[in-house]
Amino acid sequence: MQKEGFYCPLCSARVSSDDNSVVKLKGKLKSDKFSVIVNIDIPATPGKYGGAFPEGVFLEEGAEVEFICPHCKQSLTIEDNPSHSALFMVNEDGKKKIMAFNRTYGKHSSFVFSVDTKKLLASYGEDQNKYVEKFNKDINYFGF
Ligand SMILES: [Zn+2]
Repeated sequence: MQKEGFYCPLCSARVSSDDNSVVKLKGKLKSDKFSVIVNIDIPATPGKYGGAFPEGVFLEEGAEVEFICPHCKQSLTIEDNPSHSALFMVNEDGKKKIMAFNRTYGKHSSFVFSVDTKKLLASYGEDQNKYVEKFNKDINYFGF
């Protein structure tokens, strides 16, 4: 049984902190003339928002973050629904689900899906209604 926490859907590495309180990812911030990759910690509870950025990094509402796995360095953006990134979420009981979360700073939506059926199990955040329809279609999550 996999330990409770979050995992990269591409390389299966665990991306949760040891105490399961945060998910430790990398984020690419891009402008026309530069891009930078920073550490971003996000709350490990679906429906809780507010990423922690390194000192000196400030994002304005509407800024897009390309979340990247800190282990395999691959993008976690869902190709079929690029407004969101996705991770595997393993609950206490060992059940594995998919968690999708909004990539735009200030937008609050996250969705939890069954790995087997791809059906929506739960949704969170005040912006969820704008995105839920896109998730009600057959989405390919990184080939699974
Ligand atoms: Zn990975």
